Amino acid sequence: MAEAATRPRAPERTCIGCRRTTGPAGLVRLSRRPDGSLAVGRSEPGRGAWLCTGSVACFENAVRRRAFSRALRSEVSGQELAWLRERLLSEGVSTSDGPMGRKLEGVGGA
Ligand SMILES: [Zn+2]
Repeated sequence: MAEAATRPRAPERTCIGCRRTTGPAGLVRLSRRPDGSLAVGRSEPGRGAWLCTGSVACFENAVRRRAFSRALRSEVSGQELAWLRERLLSEGVSTSDGPMGRKLEGVGGA
């Protein structure tokens, strides 16, 4: 019954910068939380968008095409983009658990 949740093959996601589709392992997730703030992390609630991990090129591409606003269904300010850029680059440096001990759901095991 719950076979979909235990399948070794992860569902594919599309990077909003380069439109590459790949498993969630090579991508970082951004989301617009219900309270309106932006967050980085695959367990964050809210509408999400995916970008290649640590890729500045993908980030810049997404900014140019306004892909963030489209994917998140809301405007993303320049200040938020600057913050996101910092977060994405630091995510690329350390791909393991962050300082908050965030768990990567659905990854690992098999
Ligand atoms: Zn990409």
